[in-house]
Amino acid sequence: MFKSNQSYPQSIAQGPPLEPKKNPITEEYEISNNVLGLGINGKVVECIKKSSGTKFALKVLHDNSKARRELELHLKASGCRNIVKIVDVFENTYSGTKCLLVVMECMEGGELFQRIQDRQDGPFTEREAAQIMHEICVALKYLHDRNIAHRDLKPENLLYTSPHYDAIIKLTDFGFAKETYVKDTLQTPCYTPYYAAPEVLGPEKYDKSCDIWSLGVIMYILLCGFPPFYSNHGLAISPGMKARIRTGQYDFPAPEWSNVTTEAKDLIKGMLSVDPNKRLTIDEVIKNNWIAQYTNVPQTPLHTNRILKEEEQQWPEVQEEMNRSLASMRVDPGLHLKNLDNSSNALLNKRKKAKGADQGESSVN
Ligand code: ADP
Repeated sequence: MFKSNQSYPQSIAQGPPLEPKKNPITEEYEISNNVLGLGINGKVVECIKKSSGTKFALKVLHDNSKARRELELHLKASGCRNIVKIVDVFENTYSGTKCLLVVMECMEGGELFQRIQDRQDGPFTEREAAQIMHEICVALKYLHDRNIAHRDLKPENLLYTSPHYDAIIKLTDFGFAKETYVKDTLQTPCYTPYYAAPEVLGPEKYDKSCDIWSLGVIMYILLCGFPPFYSNHGLAISPGMKARIRTGQYDFPAPEWSNVTTEAKDLIKGMLSVDPNKRLTIDEVIKNNWIAQYTNVPQTPLHTNRILKEEEQQWPEVQEEMNRSLASMRVDPGLHLKNLDNSSNALLNKRKKAKGADQGESSVN
């Protein structure tokens, strides 16, 4: 899996196999105490390349097959301008434990929605949302063209290179990424999805369709500041809820969605389609006029940064909700979308109450 027939680092741009360096990382990098972020697999810390003084981000993984897989797929993706680049990899042993130390470009601009929430210079517009979506689509197309599904496409994994206006947004964290081509018949799924026959939608297409669902959720949040799905606050998913999820309903409530173009709403509907067979592919999304010609999208001011600020305290819940949905899609192909259940939706009801229920509008599906 982890071939080593090419030397490092000359080949990184193409995303080749890579042989980790065996010398101690501390010979080449100063490891700082500055924690850049916390993930499920541990910390990402700042480090400085001694020869140049340049700042990088260091992710430490326990060396096992899962970590090697993450690294291998991230390296394959590293040639894309909208994917965080790996610049060095070391294999070092600490107190008897073999570790992979992954040095990446340092993303100093922080997470996507934090940046939108913090912005001072005028309202966030529909055109800006379209431009961001275009960038994310470039990353996802790069992956899907190489038969890689990311499977963890969520706001925390979309980071900006710098705090400056010309910063580039990049996708990171290949901890759940998966190669999607079918290698042999043993990989034929043993599940029976509720509506998508395995022979119609092979596992390779299923994994990619989950990324498109994530893309739809991110686009929805970009355009209004709140997510299309809600649940009963962290409770385990009940059979009743599963059934509601399968019917997939969400809406585009006023006033946040009143001035958003029909093109944007239609694109979201195509990406959040309950049936993964009917869901758009990345090629269809990237060719959609709203994405391909984002410079023609109207500069309508959105409610996004106001809502993100107002509902800042709910953000961890939104993140957890998305994590739960992604996790359930990874293990249970019959479970796809969260239903916007108006009757048991505390967050939504709160918002509706504040605004007056009469402002709610059309429901999709
Ligand atoms: P995990 O796989 O353990 O969840 P991630 O790769 O998602 O770890 O990283 C965890 C957090 O660390 C991210 O959410 C982000 O805040 C921060 N982070 C990750 N990579 C970088 C980077 N290259 N530059 C700056 N911060 C980063």
